[in-house]
Amino acid sequence: MKKEIFIGSVGIGGNHPVSIQSMTSTDTRDVTSTLNQIQALTNAGCEIVRVAVPDRESLQPLATIIESSPMPVVADIQFDALLALKSIEAGAHAIRINPGNIGSKNKVIEILNAANQKKIPIRIGVNWGSIEKKFWSSHRSRAEIMVESVLDKVKFFEDHHFFNIKISVKSSDVKETVNAYRLIDKACDYPLHLGITEAGTLFSGTVKSAIGIGSLLLDGIGNTIRVSLTDDPVEEVKVACEILKAVGLRQQGIEIISCPTCSRTTVDLISLAKEAEKKLAELKPLKKVVVAIMGCEVNGPGEAKDADIGVAFSQKYGYIFKKGKKIEKIKPEQSIKRLTELVKELS
Ligand code: SF4
Repeated sequence: MKKEIFIGSVGIGGNHPVSIQSMTSTDTRDVTSTLNQIQALTNAGCEIVRVAVPDRESLQPLATIIESSPMPVVADIQFDALLALKSIEAGAHAIRINPGNIGSKNKVIEILNAANQKKIPIRIGVNWGSIEKKFWSSHRSRAEIMVESVLDKVKFFEDHHFFNIKISVKSSDVKETVNAYRLIDKACDYPLHLGITEAGTLFSGTVKSAIGIGSLLLDGIGNTIRVSLTDDPVEEVKVACEILKAVGLRQQGIEIISCPTCSRTTVDLISLAKEAEKKLAELKPLKKVVVAIMGCEVNGPGEAKDADIGVAFSQKYGYIFKKGKKIEKIKPEQSIKRLTELVKELS
């Protein structure tokens, strides 16, 4: 079991469930836009938010954001140790630094002491793109090099009495990232922050993240996840929620199963399934509710027999079923509204 750390009220490692993180894409100096985005992320299911602190002008806004944020805020710092120190002072619940670019060892030690005083964790985030030259080698894989680099930093932190650590070893290559996390998981007990860095746009980034993060989670590796997409961060959170559901780590929320359609389909099932996805997303049941949307009455309910509630279409009608048993007959255009009502009753 990994060591337990806390980012604000959210536990990571130990027996805590895998948490979802995202990062704001607004200008940190624009407090209103940033807080609006944080609220949207909270509504989507995000539990920890990271905010970049690119310059000194962002420090005062950061303090206001931390004060008003409904979830813990991690300050993301690159290059400037002073920004890290000031973010800790501003009340950040954790900071993320890349020790390779933050400056001299003395500066890092100053940050460690400040974080220790406030009892906040630091993520050592190593990305392949920022590995220092001294670790480069043609004899070892890039995954091994990333792990060697992160362990070097962990040792430095420990030598300076800092143990409130979270680790990430990311690359934009899925296989390389998975290999690096497998190695680091064996090598130390600190909780792991999973992600595929620069994963890409919504479609390709979702596939890469689902494979990379998903396969590690299935192996029991990982304590908190961040899906990185070139898109609205709310999409990142939606994808993260789906990954956790798919690997069985979230037993709450709506899970839609729908058939791929075939020549037996007599309605525009694709549009109906999309409509259902949109409507049902507004419901936030505390338990898992499986909803099926199937193209025919013959095979639909059978194929979706584990669904709590569903609809199967045949010619001019939709047949609502519960646990595989037909309970109502309805017109297709009214079916999704009815389905939503029934799911609401169950939630
Ligand atoms: Fe075809 Fe019916 Fe299966 Fe959908 S549920 S793919 S319509 S057989």
